Amino acid sequence: MKSISLLGATGSIGQQTLDVIASNPQAFKLSAMSVGRNIEAAEEIIQKFNPEICAVQLEEDAKTLRSRINNSGTKIVSGMDGLIEAAVSTDSSIVVNAVIGSVGLLPTLKAIEAKKTIALANKETLVTAGHLVMEKAKQHQVAILPVDSEHSAIYQCLNGENIDDVEKLILTASGGSFRDKTREELKNVTVKEALNHPNWSMGAKITIDSATMMNKGLEVIEAHWLFSFDYSKIDVILHKESIIHSMVEFADTSIIAHLGQPDMRVPIQYALTHPERLELVNGKRLNLWEVGKLHFQKMDYDRFRCLKLAFEAGNMGGLMPTVLNAANEKAVELFLNGHITFLEIEELIERAMLQAVNVNKPELDAIQETDKRTRHFVESLLNKGR
Ligand code: NDP
Ligand code: MG
Repeated sequence: MKSISLLGATGSIGQQTLDVIASNPQAFKLSAMSVGRNIEAAEEIIQKFNPEICAVQLEEDAKTLRSRINNSGTKIVSGMDGLIEAAVSTDSSIVVNAVIGSVGLLPTLKAIEAKKTIALANKETLVTAGHLVMEKAKQHQVAILPVDSEHSAIYQCLNGENIDDVEKLILTASGGSFRDKTREELKNVTVKEALNHPNWSMGAKITIDSATMMNKGLEVIEAHWLFSFDYSKIDVILHKESIIHSMVEFADTSIIAHLGQPDMRVPIQYALTHPERLELVNGKRLNLWEVGKLHFQKMDYDRFRCLKLAFEAGNMGGLMPTVLNAANEKAVELFLNGHITFLEIEELIERAMLQAVNVNKPELDAIQETDKRTRHFVESLLNKGR
């Protein structure tokens, strides 16, 4: 029986993780959880799973939740201290980090110090501070298991291989909601259209990231840190069916690919059962004859500028990925709230990168300070009318 701390239990990945836990009560139990502001859903989860501790973003919501669940025995905590407590305080062996954004960084670092295996969905953590996370994981001999489908695929393709024989990691990209639109057509797209992803049902921020292709950019940086490959050895290819989740090319020209239905419960469950596998309850088998054809297209970096910016930030290293990530988080929030247009997302990110002063191998406080400063900068551009 594996005991699990789940950060971001109310989100898209969080709910699917709960589904995997509930489907396998003999294998998993939920010992700790965190939510943001959705305390109605938190109450339901507490009633169903009875965890020891639940962290809530704000103390005012924690008070309401405490009064609602009064006799359940679940301790309700709040704020960043609460989130860290949920990550480290129980007997959990695995922390699933499924919060959104760089807010996931500190609990990940603390969970590593507490020697918990990390099942990482929260890619922003690796983008903003990959060197700190990987160094700490090495120091404490803790495994970081990818939940992101592309990275889970690559992790499985690399299984038992000699890293020196790898020519390239090839990440597949569905193209998101606007795959077939020209840049001209992107000028007037709406939030509602952007939120309509053809293959995956996900949280709002990552759905917008998929439409701008920043999601793939963040994943390139995530792959760089997880697998220790130079950016010149990481490639992206458009594959609209999302059946091949990613591939690895070897020196002898062989390519190993990972195929499956677009169902996030598969990589979530794999991270929880690794190195073993369990049957996926209600999993749909992949019949390739039903799929018929798979399509691939060369990536166009002028069409998808966010991906180009991410490669640039990754290659520059230091604080630049922190700037890229924070500017993106702020710009996506502004787009979702109707303050900027779709194409202004990449414009704001580029301007944030242009004004940034880079530092090599930044410490945690420099990263946190840059994250905050970049968000303010992006907001100030908006206030100045750009
Ligand atoms: P969601 O927006 O659906 O969920 C985010 C979760 O984080 C919710 O539980 C939310 O709480 C919580 N949260 C949000 N802001 C804060 C905060 N400031 N403090 C504490 N908790 C907070 O996101 P997804 O599940 O889609 O994505 C989660 C992560 O997984 C992201 O990093 C994403 O890139 C990655 N990922 C997601 C995939 C997917 O299929 N969805 C696929 C691959 C990776 P509440 O709702 O209660 O406010
Ligand atoms: Mg992904």
